[in-house]
Amino acid sequence: MNILILGSGGREHSLAWAVLQNPKCDRLIVAPGNAGIAMIADCADLDVTDPEAVVVFAGEESIDFVIIGPEAPLAAGVADALAASGIAAFGPSAAAARLEASKAFTKEVCDACGAPTAAWARFTDAAAARAHVSAQGAPIVVKADGLAAGKGVVVAETIAQAHAAIDEMFGGAFGAAGAEVVIEEFMAGEEASFFVLSDGETVLPIGTAQDHKRIGEGDTGPNTGGMGAYSPAPVMTAAVTEAALDRIVRPTVAEMARRGTPYRGVLYVGLMIENGAPRLVEYNVRFGDPECQVLMMRLGGQALDLMLACAEGRLADMQVTWAEDHALTVVMAAAGYPGDYGKGSVVGGLDALPEDSHHMVFHAGTARAEGLWRANGGRVLNVTARGATLQEARDRAYGMIKGIDWPEGVHRRDIGWRAL
Ligand code: ATP
Repeated sequence: MNILILGSGGREHSLAWAVLQNPKCDRLIVAPGNAGIAMIADCADLDVTDPEAVVVFAGEESIDFVIIGPEAPLAAGVADALAASGIAAFGPSAAAARLEASKAFTKEVCDACGAPTAAWARFTDAAAARAHVSAQGAPIVVKADGLAAGKGVVVAETIAQAHAAIDEMFGGAFGAAGAEVVIEEFMAGEEASFFVLSDGETVLPIGTAQDHKRIGEGDTGPNTGGMGAYSPAPVMTAAVTEAALDRIVRPTVAEMARRGTPYRGVLYVGLMIENGAPRLVEYNVRFGDPECQVLMMRLGGQALDLMLACAEGRLADMQVTWAEDHALTVVMAAAGYPGDYGKGSVVGGLDALPEDSHHMVFHAGTARAEGLWRANGGRVLNVTARGATLQEARDRAYGMIKGIDWPEGVHRRDIGWRAL
């Protein structure tokens, strides 16, 4: 089978790595891919947010199955265009991708199916939004409705902060994504990410994870795309998992089907757990990055069978074969990230590191020329390891980092601290 993966980050490197372990994969192309991915698969230049271009490319390359990594192609309707051309694709339709693309839409779906989430209100006008905040008090959460690359959410500790966020969003800081603003009750608790596959009807859990969003140790400092993650998440006990499935995930999938926009693909369920009760924070319609890296390390080659069954409506026949193990990934970033950072510094030692079912460096932003690896982005490497315990996975990941010679790189030394 010829497979095409769309995307260019560490997430897509880990998807490619897992897919290649499955003997069903004859040929793999990743578009656009990156320098690390190019070591294991063919990479092709392609505008992945252009549905027509993706369909033409898939036809030319005799692609049997397309795995869509990031949200932008999904929101642009790439899965719809592939379906219309008869090419199997993993990823929801643009209509179903609204579960990520519009926060107000997700809240409406939650209300319609009774899924527990923060109380909310929506506004298209700054004065009304400010008055609502003044009446509700702080802490309170202000969100731009649309896609804002994780930057459109302000957890405001004071009314003044909330007012400032409202003014910024209606002032155009996030363009059209901020034309509508959602204001939510602040939820206390511990966050975890729960990943399920849905073929429109059947829901199959494929793992849990927790990530570290802040740049600084102890989860301090500015937000980033994610500085590390581990799987499973200890807070996702069997009881919490069952409650999340029964009260949040299955009702949502049923509601999406009832609306005529069945959800097919991976659903990333962001949860807040307080006293054993999960509430929904957000849905994402794709794997998280870096959470995907730890999930793929645990799932290995069966990930392809699961994604295929998901796309073909056969999830009811599938089971996940779990290894009783843990995985952890540490993100290495260019110094200065998430602010300004330099590009081009040499990253030494990578070629001498182990690469096997328990150790892998997934590349997020590297370039390779004349036999040298260089940093070519903010988040550069995802140093990922697996072990019988979280401690073992963590020791292996940090052991690999000792072998990486990159003075211009930074990483957190405390990934997994909450679980250990
Ligand atoms: P990302 O996809 O980067 O996680 P996003 O822009 O889709 O972010 P959300 O996930 O909705 O936004 O919110 C980002 C973060 O803000 C959450 O992970 C959570 O830590 C916090 N947050 C969001 N809503 C609430 C809430 N109602 N109560 C408490 N914290 C919240």
